Amino acid sequence: MTHKAKPIKWINSEAGLCVMCDRRVGKAGHYVCLSCNRPCEVDFRKLGGDPQAPRTLQLNAVLFLADLKSRCCNYDVEVLSQITCSDDCHEDFVVALCAQFGEFKKIVGPDGVARKVPTRTIIEKGLRTADLKRFPAWSDQGAA
Ligand SMILES: [Zn+2]
Ligand SMILES: [Zn+2]
Repeated sequence: MTHKAKPIKWINSEAGLCVMCDRRVGKAGHYVCLSCNRPCEVDFRKLGGDPQAPRTLQLNAVLFLADLKSRCCNYDVEVLSQITCSDDCHEDFVVALCAQFGEFKKIVGPDGVARKVPTRTIIEKGLRTADLKRFPAWSDQGAA
């Protein structure tokens, strides 16, 4: 069976709904600002609006990809929410993200080296700055 990419409804995650199918998810709406360590509201930004690599990498991949910042401090946030309701929706979500952002993401680490990181790995395992070294360097020739 073929998965066709469905739209991701990012805004749903603020309302505690699955971003793929609108069903309610268990844990919702818990964002913690990593600057003041308090629960916070978040601003969603368009990915790719900023040509510069992010200063820090989110521990949570989804938020890293969506590029969220806390409203209180305009800082990175940690997410304590589920954003999809089921394994099926998770799969749809991964497919949609890869369709939208590519199967690999170019991430510049603190060492200034651009790395080629699979989007799925970021989503499912998260990404820490220290792990970046494990990924191959990004080659612009290979990026179609
Ligand atoms: Zn769902
Ligand atoms: Zn804050």
